Amino acid sequence: MNLVDEDPELAGALAAEVRAQHDTLALVAHASLADPSVLAAAGAVLNNVTAEGYPGARYHPGAARFDVVERLAVARAKAVFGARYANAQPHSCSSANLAVLVGLLPPGGVLLGMDLDAGGHLTHGAPASVTGRHFRAVHYGLAGGLIDYDQVAELARAHRPAVVVAGASSYPRALDYRRFRAIADSVGAYLVADISHVAGLVAAGEHPSPIDIAHVTTTSTYKQLGGPRGGLIMSGVEHDRPGPGGTGTLAELMQRSVFPRTQGTPNPGAIAAKARALDLALRPDFRSWARRVAADARALAAGLVERGHRVLTGGTDNHLVLLDLRPHGVTGVVAERALEGCGILANRNRVPGDTRPPLVASGLRLGTNVVARRGMGPAEMARCAELVHVVLAAVARDRFDGEVRARVRAEVAALCAEFPLPFYPLEVGV
Ligand SMILES: *Cc1c(COP(=O)(O)O)cnc(C)c1O
Repeated sequence: MNLVDEDPELAGALAAEVRAQHDTLALVAHASLADPSVLAAAGAVLNNVTAEGYPGARYHPGAARFDVVERLAVARAKAVFGARYANAQPHSCSSANLAVLVGLLPPGGVLLGMDLDAGGHLTHGAPASVTGRHFRAVHYGLAGGLIDYDQVAELARAHRPAVVVAGASSYPRALDYRRFRAIADSVGAYLVADISHVAGLVAAGEHPSPIDIAHVTTTSTYKQLGGPRGGLIMSGVEHDRPGPGGTGTLAELMQRSVFPRTQGTPNPGAIAAKARALDLALRPDFRSWARRVAADARALAAGLVERGHRVLTGGTDNHLVLLDLRPHGVTGVVAERALEGCGILANRNRVPGDTRPPLVASGLRLGTNVVARRGMGPAEMARCAELVHVVLAAVARDRFDGEVRARVRAEVAALCAEFPLPFYPLEVGV
């Protein structure tokens, strides 16, 4: 069977995506590139196996091979992060966070997490999320662009949360997990670290690791880990500490919190792909990539500052660069669309104190995961900063026309051709 003959409509869309990824400068912070072997593992016929439960304790027959695969994924997650416990079944980090919170909090329990507007994630108790509806969420924010740890401590004293969440989707600086832990300890709360955005840097030692500091750590697997859609739950030295109210150890509680409390059957293909991506994350190549991601982000931030842009916190410790567009009178959505029209991807993002709604926003979030994977280094980041600058400056002066678009597009095409995607040969198509 050949997809091109069987379903040309779908095959065409998939082939167009390959072409687009080749020709686009992806400066988005949440994306990564999955190795073809990861994609192959995700699409393996193992997908046809249905088996609730965990390796050695399934509720269905025929899972012996899947048991081997899931045990590999768990062992590799532990090896990559130096964890003592890992669960590879969460379908996403949102599912992982839900399982962790449901395990650690009673209905209506108090959770202290980072405000969405300050860079936190929906699943850290935002009103639009089930985590904000079923628990009582209190939120900390920023002071001078940095996490306001004094406010975190004050809110903890005032609200006595049972869980403190340390993690962000849009925060360019390293997190001080020890400080979070001291605050959690001061009120007897569990500390949950969500490293979704920086998991690759953590794995490579380029960002502090919360594994032995937090009680539980969660991550998505498709961002910096270059894995499939999915999540992981991990725990370090605290894994055998008792969970709340005689529920067994934290590790036992997390196992039950994923299945049967919040998920049904695991996704065997995704778990195979996680095992593959985690194996790659143990290699020296991955470390060099992570170092380049961080060096590129610093260079990109510096290039934008040089060109007169307001970079939040003045720079970055990780892979992301946050721009406040307000001085230019440009909104995030207009900037995002103008850049996309030129083949550059960067997403609109709210900035601290933003008065515009999330769909409009006043900031732009850029990241270097993908360009670093293409082999671009700090010198190319100066070129990227210039291209972003040319577009934003034209938009700000109301001079963003076909001529600017064509000029930037041509330079994007040249840069992409010089640094082709390391995988996905074009002729393979789908
Ligand atoms: C992306 C993200 C998530 C959600 O991950 P999904 O796998 O997309 O559900 C959770 N937490 C943080 C901090 C994130 O950045």
